[in-house]
Amino acid sequence: MKIYNIAIVGAGPAGYFAAQALQNLQTEEIKFTIDMIERLPTPWGLVRSGVAPDHPKIKTVSKVFEKIATSEGFRLFCNVELDKDISLKELQEIYDAVVIATGSSRGKKLGIPGEELSGSLSAADFVPWYNAHPDHSELDVDLNCDTAVVIGAGNVAMDVARILALEPHELDPTDTATHALTKLHQSSVRKVHICGRRGPEHAAFTSPELRELPKLEHTDVHIDHNQIRAAQQRAEAAGEITKDVKSNLDAMLAIAESQSKNLARAMYFHFLSTPLEIRGDGKVEEVIFGINEVKEGRVISTGKKFTIKCGLVISAIGYESVEIAGLSYENGRVKNVEGRVNSTNTYVVGWAKRGPSGVIGTNKSDSTDVMKLLVEDLKTPKSASHFDQLLSSRGIIYVSQEHWEKINSAEVQAGEPLGKPRVKFVKRDEMLGLN
Ligand code: NAP
Repeated sequence: MKIYNIAIVGAGPAGYFAAQALQNLQTEEIKFTIDMIERLPTPWGLVRSGVAPDHPKIKTVSKVFEKIATSEGFRLFCNVELDKDISLKELQEIYDAVVIATGSSRGKKLGIPGEELSGSLSAADFVPWYNAHPDHSELDVDLNCDTAVVIGAGNVAMDVARILALEPHELDPTDTATHALTKLHQSSVRKVHICGRRGPEHAAFTSPELRELPKLEHTDVHIDHNQIRAAQQRAEAAGEITKDVKSNLDAMLAIAESQSKNLARAMYFHFLSTPLEIRGDGKVEEVIFGINEVKEGRVISTGKKFTIKCGLVISAIGYESVEIAGLSYENGRVKNVEGRVNSTNTYVVGWAKRGPSGVIGTNKSDSTDVMKLLVEDLKTPKSASHFDQLLSSRGIIYVSQEHWEKINSAEVQAGEPLGKPRVKFVKRDEMLGLN
């Protein structure tokens, strides 16, 4: 029997699904030991720091992750950072194969004047802020304004807009970071504008997310029904409408045609609106948008403009990967061919491989396909890795699976009396101290 040692860097969905695929590919002849390495003291990646706190069902996939993590041959090494505590080159030498599953955590820039003004944030910082990510807890989020603008027409923009627009008591029974929940309760934001540069038929939202908006008890949602009707006509004229586009447009039309309830909070959708400039004296005061139209299937500028006065702008226009030494990048992701990286023993999965697209489940088939290639490429196994000893010799305090389980249960216990699924630790020291 051959035993191969595989390192997976990144403990998010793509990393866990890669581990699961390897576990499923084991036979009488081939077994794997899997060392999962994660820079944060906690695993689960975007399931912990990305998924919106009012979407607890999506987070139940963590049960699958824990089953994978407690299977034979799996070891967790959290609080270990590639490029700081260990290099990719070292991992490539120690392990039979290295799987990069580090995602894409840096927000793309709008590249427009005023983007750096105080009060202009990226969803790549705002989302982990409300999700208790230790690196983002100090983010300066000023909610002392009546109006916020969210730029982008994808599900991240939708999450951000909803979190800003809902009545914060709706977040009380969730695992929203305590610092964020306190600030949201004090928030003066009552109007949230969500702005996409193309038409409703091009929006990247998915329909379940649109369909939950009318369920918000304290927030009116405004969509211009003329814009949706026009989008439907354009889409029909262009040929057969895909199921997803039809479902999105139907969901938007239902919202557009519903009666406003004159609630204190409101969300407004704007399409065909390109952000041109963020203006303000030292801090955000308004966003200037260019108005577009769709002509012969192309989105073009009309030359007209409009302005939204606001005190907060959050751009949610996609992500790119943070570079790791020893890897080449193109278009914000690791250069690869079907997940293979050069002619090394390195593979890439998830957003680091294909860019920031797809839902959590998309990573399952994606990681499985890449792990099949990895297994095909394996040759003579190297001797067992003594990664734990190497880390200890460097004085690195890592969080093992057992240690993580203590953190996990302490969080869950802290949440119980408050009716929350958990109260997340934010400070690294608190988490490391629980060993
Ligand atoms: P996304 O779905 O790719 O949406 C990005 C949006 O930003 C698009 O509307 C895009 O418009 C717009 N955009 C890009 N560059 C822009 C610019 N310079 N100016 C103005 N707008 C710009 O990305 P995402 O929202 O970050 O989501 C990432 C992935 O995670 C998606 O697959 C999403 O479905 C998934 N996700 C799922 C959930 C969920 O299931 N509940 C929640 C969050 C995220 P164009 O189309 O015109 O480029």
